[in-house]
Amino acid sequence: MVKKAAKLKLFFPFVLALITATIWSVYFSQPDEKLNIYFFDVGQGDAELIQKANWQILVDGGPDDIVIERISNVMPIDDRKIETIIITHPHADHITGLIEVINRYEIEKIILTKVGYESATYKSLLELIDKKKIKTITPKIGDVEYLFDQGKITYLWPGEEVSRFENNLNNSSIVFRFDYGDFNCIFSGDAEIESWTEIFKKQKNNLPDIDVIKIPHHGSRTGLNENMTNIMRPDIAIISLGLNNKYGFPHQEILDILAKNKTRVYRTDQDKSINIRTDGKNYEIKTF
Ligand SMILES: [Zn+2]
Repeated sequence: MVKKAAKLKLFFPFVLALITATIWSVYFSQPDEKLNIYFFDVGQGDAELIQKANWQILVDGGPDDIVIERISNVMPIDDRKIETIIITHPHADHITGLIEVINRYEIEKIILTKVGYESATYKSLLELIDKKKIKTITPKIGDVEYLFDQGKITYLWPGEEVSRFENNLNNSSIVFRFDYGDFNCIFSGDAEIESWTEIFKKQKNNLPDIDVIKIPHHGSRTGLNENMTNIMRPDIAIISLGLNNKYGFPHQEILDILAKNKTRVYRTDQDKSINIRTDGKNYEIKTF
């Protein structure tokens, strides 16, 4: 009897410690209740993730497979599903990493344009989407999609008539506004000023007073002008680009325009990946 009691005395603290550890680990592995947007450092290219708990929208996939490492670092470990992928346009610096993403994750739907473009990578990507029977959607200008509790996407560009952009694919980029409560962010792909002129004509109600803009076309002088910042008045600008890229991005004119507007600039070549976290009222930014 004495022996048994001694054993129990040892056993109970052990079980208690185990239960406590389990409760704590479950508690701390709960998904973040706030909305997170990640602008990943993927070198010269674009890849962004909008995440609310177990719900993700991946916007573009960068120029190679580094995007896999980036998304797996921030997604809940047991979440193997990405609800939506948005392919802004078919250039290699936006789509190459998506092939591995689609191979590794379950994808519910893909938003893309029907622009014609001949490249081996884009062909492989479209074949893979077809083989996996993933639903594809091409939004119209002004289409609104409601997401999570207070999330919303408004598609601003380019709509269904995209054949006229086949000589400059950048202008076929899907541009959209993402809202979460009072917070908003413009995702711009590589859309150039020529298309912005039309966007501003058609969507002027959706463009004033922007919290965050993903600067179009990696900070190229072809993507932004002063008229645009005068209307959007963005507080934060994110430039997605590679260190010492061969294009000379970001162009000085763009940095000058943003400085004049007192926009705070974050760059993936210098700040690495950027995380904006919001509850729909306030937001905070960290780099990592
Ligand atoms: Zn690009």
